[in-house]
Amino acid sequence: MNTSKIGFIGLGTMGEPMATRLVQAGYSVVVTDLNSAAVARLTALGATSAENAAAVASECDIVCASLPTPDVVEKVALGTHGVSSGSTVKTFIDLSTTGPRVAKLVASGLQEKGIRHVDCPVSGGAAGAQKGTLALMVACAAELQPEMAELLQHLGRVIFVGETAGLAQTMKLVNNLVSVTALAVSSEALVMGVKAGLDPKVMIEVFNAGSGRNSATTDKLPRAVLPRTFDFGFSTALSLKDTRLCLEEAEIMGIPMPVGNAVRQVLNMTRASFGDNADFTRMVCLIEQWAGIEIPASEKPGQ
Ligand code: NAD
Repeated sequence: MNTSKIGFIGLGTMGEPMATRLVQAGYSVVVTDLNSAAVARLTALGATSAENAAAVASECDIVCASLPTPDVVEKVALGTHGVSSGSTVKTFIDLSTTGPRVAKLVASGLQEKGIRHVDCPVSGGAAGAQKGTLALMVACAAELQPEMAELLQHLGRVIFVGETAGLAQTMKLVNNLVSVTALAVSSEALVMGVKAGLDPKVMIEVFNAGSGRNSATTDKLPRAVLPRTFDFGFSTALSLKDTRLCLEEAEIMGIPMPVGNAVRQVLNMTRASFGDNADFTRMVCLIEQWAGIEIPASEKPGQ
């Protein structure tokens, strides 16, 4: 039994399975979320709950957060009833995708209160969070790294990218740009092939045996598009947020990203047609509409 008390704020698609893994690893976990049903699921597993972020940070040394947007992270970390008003917290691990500027701002706001910031965005989706196979990109002070490695190993593979807050966020943003771009272009290719008469399952087999292999062909398309479940677990709004943050940073740095901007517009169109909460794999439906065909449904892998 691990006796350390770990706080966890934000029990959404990613946060709930991550907090669950920490409970299962034997930590005493104190959770909070605006969604009481998610809190109830965690307390049923053995976690305890607290009223808000400040209350969590007044019970635990280490507080993790997995929150939707940069403004929410800033508010939960530094706002009224936020982590910075906690009385026991020493380390704040931000597992959210916020972009480097908010990571730096939150790190310096927390530093004024003597709280150390760990910039730790994750990659690998809901399935990775459940299985503990996420990639965790970590930027934090060198002396904190062994302690962070011990805790975060329960969530996936820990890769230290540096010591400066924001570096891990930059890594995460460019990773996600590559991932969503692969999804967009693989969706276009799949629809074109089907319209020409190819079997989509055979296409996936060929991509994955050949040079077209990527995270959409190995995972997102077979798991969420071919069965037409569109349930990969990443919303269009969150993908658009990541892409926008990446392109804003690139623009500030003076780096044109024409391909990334095209993908941003594909996400904007997906949101306009299907809404913020639609899974981002829905983008394939736009291309189907333009092509005037629908990819035939097949069984979900493993069923
Ligand atoms: P989500 O919207 O499913 O979950 C966010 C949770 O935060 C919700 O349960 C919500 O109720 C809670 N919340 C919002 N405001 C709050 C507040 N003020 N106090 C307490 N709780 C609050 O989002 P998600 O998909 O779990 O993503 C979380 C973070 O992880 C995001 O930054 C996202 O970009 C990143 N991420 C997501 C994925 C994915 O595949 N879903 C993958 C990697 C990284």
